[in-house]
This record gives sequence, structure tokens and C-alpha cells, in this order.
Amino acid sequence: MAQIKLENINKIYDNGFHAVHDFNLDIKDNEFIIMVGPSGCGKSTTLRMIAGIESISGGTLTIDGTVCNNLKPHDRGIAMVFQSYALYPTMTVYDNLAFGLRIAGFDEDEIEVRVKEVAEILGIETYLSRKPKALSGGQQQRVALGRALIRHAKVFLMDEPLSNLDAIQRVNMRSEIRRIHQRVGATTIYVTHDQVEAMTMADRIVVMKDGYIQQIGTPKELYFKPQNLFVAGFIGDPQMNFIYGKIDGDKFIAKEDGSVIDLKGYNEKILKNARKLDEVVIGFRPECCSVEEITDAPHISETMKVEVSEMLGDTLNIYGFLGKNHMVVRTNPFTKYTVNEDFKFYVSYDHIVLFDAKSENIINED
Ligand code: ATP
Repeated sequence: MAQIKLENINKIYDNGFHAVHDFNLDIKDNEFIIMVGPSGCGKSTTLRMIAGIESISGGTLTIDGTVCNNLKPHDRGIAMVFQSYALYPTMTVYDNLAFGLRIAGFDEDEIEVRVKEVAEILGIETYLSRKPKALSGGQQQRVALGRALIRHAKVFLMDEPLSNLDAIQRVNMRSEIRRIHQRVGATTIYVTHDQVEAMTMADRIVVMKDGYIQQIGTPKELYFKPQNLFVAGFIGDPQMNFIYGKIDGDKFIAKEDGSVIDLKGYNEKILKNARKLDEVVIGFRPECCSVEEITDAPHISETMKVEVSEMLGDTLNIYGFLGKNHMVVRTNPFTKYTVNEDFKFYVSYDHIVLFDAKSENIINED
């Protein structure tokens, strides 16, 4: 059971670098929060401040109603899992798991009960007598998780725990960590730069850039309602299509080449706000481009000139140009197209967003 509240948390390092600005977040009991963002955005610094291994320069950190700013790490009820598994190479898996409890003075009977419990949760019962070097990366990461679980901590902090694993192990461990979270129920804060990890594992995601929170929301909210160009571009692969231009009446006119996208019937309140701006960005996701004509909803119909394609087996990415603007359409692998020829696609108004090019924020109704 742990609720965590971060209020106006700031981090200024000794050299004067302001790494985290006014970080505000209320984390619910049992929630799985993922902090995501490019390298250097301040996610590890924030995690380390919660863990107590980095001092907090300003603001208040509360865990279950207790202000923790000045509490020692081991008094915060937190267990941390790092990118490097940090297992003791000369000890067996059993002893690696037992180590922390032995230091804390637990008796061997209790330790045995807990090691068995954790080994069963993680499915590592058969490796208990092995040394870490006789385990795969995924198995070693399970043991590292086990060392956190065995302490019955109320909060788990994980800093890029899967980044040393190969692609298949990463996918397996993603669902494994979610399964363990559901079973154990500890509030979890997980740091990654991988947006797929964030989208597939989190209850809520915190997107960071340059020390500032960009948006907090469920994976669905971030995907369908990105608050700014950064979040829209960061979440989703291939990236959302962006075209810079302006709104004139009911039309979007591209800056690069004057191509026109007809938005007649699009949300009038948004268009009205967009007309007041010098420059806007129209955005739509590659996978929201339909090759079949949309008959039951207002939509744009556009034509792009195909340049190259990328066959992924289950999907096909078709790259090209709408006028002079780069475009990608993500579609089913059986779609017919010809390089250097026109390719028609449709996007429902529901999947079209407009951003203010200057502030980079989404244009809302109000
Ligand atoms: P990565 O994904 O690369 O780990 P991150 O988002 O976790 O990045 P942090 O490690 O939190 O980023 O670092 C945030 C910023 O603070 C970076 O610009 C980094 O250079 C800076 N920084 C980190 N530690 C210190 C320090 N001890 N002194 C000064 N600046 C630091």
C-alpha cells in the first residue's frame, strides 16, 4: 500500500544545472507509472530523488502521508531495480536473494520461506543453486527483481531494467513484470526511454523533456490526445505525420508548397482558434490513414506520390510525398501501390489534430 505525492519537485545539481523543474504527480496505490523521455530529460534524476539517493533541491515528496525529503533510502519502504543487475557473482541465486534479509537480521527459516515464495513468483525455483554467470540475461534480471520483491517493499523503483536484454527477452520480461505487479500489487515507478515499453506496461505515463513534464496520461490518452508536438511525435512508430501551414477559411494550406487539405465540417471551434494563428501544424498518424474510402464519417481524402515502402510482414509502411511534404501511411501488407505513382488515402476527422506551430501546443476548442 503506497500513495506517492510529488509536489513542485526540483533538482539543481551542485554545478548549477537545473535538471528537474516543478515536477508534480500524484501516484495512486498499486499504480504502475512509467516515466519516459529522451536521454537527459531528467527521469533517472527524479527516480533517484524518490529513492533517496539524490537530494531534493525544492518541493515535497510524500509517501503515504509522510514527508520523505530527508528520510534515508532504507527508511522509505522502497526497493530499487537497476539496469545492471548488480548480482554478487560469487554467490548462488539463493544467497543473492537472501543477502539483504541476512544483513537485516532475519532468521534463516524466515529467509527460506521468503526465497521460496519469490522464486515461485518469478519461476526461478530450479536455478537457486546456480551462480549468476550460469544464467541468461533474462534469468539474471528475474533474480534482480527477486531481490527487490523479497523485501516486501511497498514501492518498486525500476531504472531501465530491461535495457541489457535482447529484443525477445525484453518482450517476455515486459509481460512478466506486469504479471508480477498484478500479483504483488506494489506501487511501481519505472523509467525507460522506450515508448513501446511505456505504452505496453503503464497504467499512466509521464512524458518528460528537458527536465519538464510534457504530459501525464494513460497510454490511450497520450496516443489519441497528445497535448503538444513533442508528445505526438514521441509516442507512435512511425511518427505522426506533421505538415506545417495555416488555416484559411475551411482549408489547411501547406507552407512548403501551398498544397490544400480541405477541412470543411471539421470542429469549427478548433478551426476558429487555428485561424487566429500565424502558423499551425496538421497531424495525423500513419496508421489512421485508411486506403478504403471512409463512408460513415467526415474525412480528408488525399493523394501522395509513393517513394519507398517498408514491408514488416504484418504491416506495410508506404513513404512518399503529399506535394513536397514527407508522409507515411501504415497499412495492411496486401495493399496495392506503385513506386513513383499516386496513392490515395483517407483520414477521418476524428484522427486529425491541429497544433500551434509557435507554442507547439494542441489547439483546443476553448
Ligand atoms: P538517460 O536516459 O540518459 O539516463 P535521464 O532522462 O535519466 O537520461 P538524468 O540522468 O536524470 O537523465 O539526467 C538529467 C540531466 O541532469 C542530464 O542533462 C544530465 O547530464 C544531468 N546530470 C545528471 N547527473 C548530474 C550531476 N551529478 N551533476 C550535474 N548534472 C547532472
